[in-house]
Amino acid sequence: MVFQKIINKVFLYHGSCNSYYIDDEVKILIDAGVDLDKKIDLLVLTHFHPDHALFARRIKDRTNCRILIGHRDLEPLKLLTKVWPTWEGKKIGEVLPDGLLKEGDVINTGSMILKVLEVPGHTIGSIAFFEPVKKILFTGDTLFAHGVTGRIDFPYSDSQSMDESVERLKSLKADIILPGHGEIIRV
Ligand SMILES: [Zn+2]
Ligand SMILES: [Zn+2]
Repeated sequence: MVFQKIINKVFLYHGSCNSYYIDDEVKILIDAGVDLDKKIDLLVLTHFHPDHALFARRIKDRTNCRILIGHRDLEPLKLLTKVWPTWEGKKIGEVLPDGLLKEGDVINTGSMILKVLEVPGHTIGSIAFFEPVKKILFTGDTLFAHGVTGRIDFPYSDSQSMDESVERLKSLKADIILPGHGEIIRV
């Protein structure tokens, strides 16, 4: 499986989306675009889209990890397999979260703190994660390299909020931006 070390304990895996594995005291996978065969305690989804949730069911079944997603993406996640039964020829398993994330929540990995930011736009419940000490920012499909921003023409997009969400992410002045697709950004 093709992967790349970003910083100590943080790895990027290339799949149907960029998925990030945090190999810390708590093992965290951000997005399920790869069927990662490692110890996973927590799977967090930046949003409900099929390219990010593709292997969530399989990973859950194998690892019994907890799955978390932004609270406003719960309803569309429930409809996921009706709207997108397959993705890139692979069947998407039904998945329900074990918990919901909202603005201000924090995830402690052991040596890092991931702050949850609600960034509606690409989907109504999209979330990003900011680590304020190492200044790394996981942007999901809200902000990509070269200032490209995510599509807002899907069902369950929130086009009105996108500009504000993008500006908010840019204003964090992260040193490393880790998007849901494409190249990473080292400022
Ligand atoms: Zn998406
Ligand atoms: Zn995506």
